[in-house]
Amino acid sequence: MPMSDVPAPKDFIRTIIDEDLASEKHFGTVTRFPPEPNGYLHLGHAKSICLNFGIAEEYGGICHLRFDDTNPAKEETEYVESIKTDVRWLGFDWGEHLYYASDYFDQLYEWALYLIDTGKAYVDDQTSEEIRASRGDLQKPGTESPWRNRSIMENRELFEQMREGAFGDGEKVLRAKIDMAHPNLNLRDPVLYRILRATHHRTGDRWCIYPMYDFTHGQSDALEHITHSLCTLEFENHRPLYDWFLDNLPVPARPRQIEFSRLNLTYTVMSKRKLLQLVSERLVSGWDDPRMPTLSGVRRRGYPPEALRQFCKTIGITKYESTNDFALLEASVRDVLNQTAHRHMAVIDPIKIVLTNYPEDQVEQMSAPNNPADPEAGHRAVPFCRELYIERDDFMEDAPSKYYRLRPGGEVRLRSAYIIRYEDVVKNAEGEIVEILCTYDPETRSGSEQAATTGRRVKATIHWVSARHAVDAEVRLYDRLFTTEFPDREEGSFLDYLNPDSLQIITTAKLEPALAELPPGRTVQFERLGYFCADPDGHANRPVFNRTVGLRDTWAKAQQVN
Ligand code: ATP
Ligand code: MG
Repeated sequence: MPMSDVPAPKDFIRTIIDEDLASEKHFGTVTRFPPEPNGYLHLGHAKSICLNFGIAEEYGGICHLRFDDTNPAKEETEYVESIKTDVRWLGFDWGEHLYYASDYFDQLYEWALYLIDTGKAYVDDQTSEEIRASRGDLQKPGTESPWRNRSIMENRELFEQMREGAFGDGEKVLRAKIDMAHPNLNLRDPVLYRILRATHHRTGDRWCIYPMYDFTHGQSDALEHITHSLCTLEFENHRPLYDWFLDNLPVPARPRQIEFSRLNLTYTVMSKRKLLQLVSERLVSGWDDPRMPTLSGVRRRGYPPEALRQFCKTIGITKYESTNDFALLEASVRDVLNQTAHRHMAVIDPIKIVLTNYPEDQVEQMSAPNNPADPEAGHRAVPFCRELYIERDDFMEDAPSKYYRLRPGGEVRLRSAYIIRYEDVVKNAEGEIVEILCTYDPETRSGSEQAATTGRRVKATIHWVSARHAVDAEVRLYDRLFTTEFPDREEGSFLDYLNPDSLQIITTAKLEPALAELPPGRTVQFERLGYFCADPDGHANRPVFNRTVGLRDTWAKAQQVN
């Protein structure tokens, strides 16, 4: 069974769910993934998606996709669409359970009035600076607002006027009346509503007051009958407030918030704000730049969604902050691609070989396996002729004794073709090699009976492309986006640590003809070079390929050497 089909290990959240089902506290699970549509999803979100939708799959439950769109200024329809695309791409389906926090604006407004009527909310005339300054800190209690003891009647009237647009932006807010000396700062009369004239992507200009995230999230969970509301650790301190609203409002259900640690990865940043900065300052080509840790970026890079799901299972769910090695994610990518990607031949730094004893006009179709790991993948025909390209570094004129590829006096096998022998080189006026002359041994064709009976062996097999049939291509090689493991933690701006060599564009590549027909988004293995994904920038006459990942983890090695 491939790793991606293995059930996720039991973590503390699944243990809680098991207990809740066993004790009949719940009779099923309802989870949700609640992105704010203010950017594209990143790999951290994949962890949350795999957790929430994964639980729904494992327990026969339901997972909602809910857009947490309480902040009108930063949200855009483009983000909503990209988020839907990315969740589906990862392999999950919310079915009919698509929701928007903005759908609950009327209900939330009613609940704000409810808190006012029960003496648990008041309109405050203080400015946001005054509110911040009077909040106190961990050592010092906050001070009560001079407006805290307004009558219920007055609060109601003022709040209704706030809604009707009687006041300017920021002139008043609605606050919960809890405890200005509470040890948890989130319970020191948190703001519930603010005045903000901004057009909302769904409600347009219907509202000029907007509920705060904390006043929205738990109530949305309750309205949707979420059983387990799974979020990241930074919300742990908000849980008492989450519960306070549920305790003090006539909500129809009682969800439970449980926190887990976020995904952090080395050599990248994982915050929408920072990723937006990379995009808007044009430091990358867009949200889907293949170097970006966004789901659209890694999709364009060629990562299969199974690899992300497998990776999320590997790292598991804990309560401890940690950072995972990017190489671990790449290992999952390799693992999946090794089983699924078709093999092809491509030469990215070509040098020409001429087989002097091969008939001038002859073309043979060599049969090559599409995937040695999967016999059902079949074979394809690869044209072979007198002139071929091989990789420049597969030949060495002054080779050390341990060099087993092509060298003066030496022999190599051309993958799925013949054994060839070095004869001579042709140099230009500058003394650079422009052509290597070889002879081939007709008895050694791969898979032929003759080759089997002669049993001749050589130490190395190299890849090649027929020069007459080759398709010219652009190949984009990617490296880490940042030069340091923790760009967020370094001195100065994270932008100071961008890797100037994170993109290398190769324009000389020569491809096996079949590669010209690959649809964008398809990932294949270029034999001996790595996995590469066809990019939408290319076309049949000039394909473009992105290197998804190398065949081995060369990064770890390079790090040690330097
Ligand atoms: P960012 O800081 O990148 O903007 P966010 O938490 O503000 O992220 P949301 O759109 O609010 O982004 O997140 C949607 C869901 O994804 C939330 O439940 C959030 O906890 C979760 N999430 C966000 N980042 C990560 C991460 N790095 N690892 C795991 N879950 C995450
Ligand atoms: Mg957020």
